[in-house]
Amino acid sequence: MGPSHALSGAAVWLGGTWALDHFGVYHQSAVEVAVGTAVCAGAALLPDLDMSGKVITGRGGATVANTFGRVSLFIAEVLEKFSLTVYRATRMKRDPARDNGHRTLTHTIPFALGVGWLTTAATGFGGKWAVIGILFFTLGLALRGLFHKWAVRAGWILITALSAAAAYGTFLYLPAERGYPMLGVAVGIGCIVHILGDLITSAGVPILWPIPTGRRTWRMIGVPNALAIPVGGKVETILLRGVFALVSIAAVTALVGAALLEKFTVRV
Ligand SMILES: [Zn+2]
Repeated sequence: MGPSHALSGAAVWLGGTWALDHFGVYHQSAVEVAVGTAVCAGAALLPDLDMSGKVITGRGGATVANTFGRVSLFIAEVLEKFSLTVYRATRMKRDPARDNGHRTLTHTIPFALGVGWLTTAATGFGGKWAVIGILFFTLGLALRGLFHKWAVRAGWILITALSAAAAYGTFLYLPAERGYPMLGVAVGIGCIVHILGDLITSAGVPILWPIPTGRRTWRMIGVPNALAIPVGGKVETILLRGVFALVSIAAVTALVGAALLEKFTVRV
């Protein structure tokens, strides 16, 4: 589901950016919109970084866990074990025993809010450098997710190099005095969009955590099997991705159109 998650993150961010711009709430420069979209698309894959593989042999794990080779496989391993620890520490009587932390902590609202807050705090402390670091990481995830088939062939070294080049490009174009507190919002929204995406699959997500219901804190909420979107089926790969792509293109067209109109009006 990598490409769908990344595309949905981009679509939601671009749609939201257009709405804020259109209603005069918040205006962003082209660079800011590009950076925010990349970060939101990448962050929309972040929750699946809890699917670890084998660090020693460099195999397995979710698509995103292979983004930066064994470095990201190691991060995934740590995140999965940490999630499992949190699961075990907070589970109640009716919650089943687990030996894998996938689809637990990273698929909760407190995680999305926490990571978003941490990101904004990092841009506050680290300014431009933090932005570059966040962009390097999230863009790598976005590349891996959006161009799934190509990424497998290209391998992690090329993806790491491309992400580094994009981060350097940001370094050149980003105004020096601006860290973007907005990036935390992009990361948080990306994670929430991912969680909502998993919600329409039959496995579900523990979206209520940590609120207990019927002696369970980790109740998996999903749609009934009959309504669930089959992973990798036509509905996902054609319909959903098509809608996300169309929304993204429409939002970009509207934003560019508005910017051109503004220029024209000033001249007249
Ligand atoms: Zn997921």
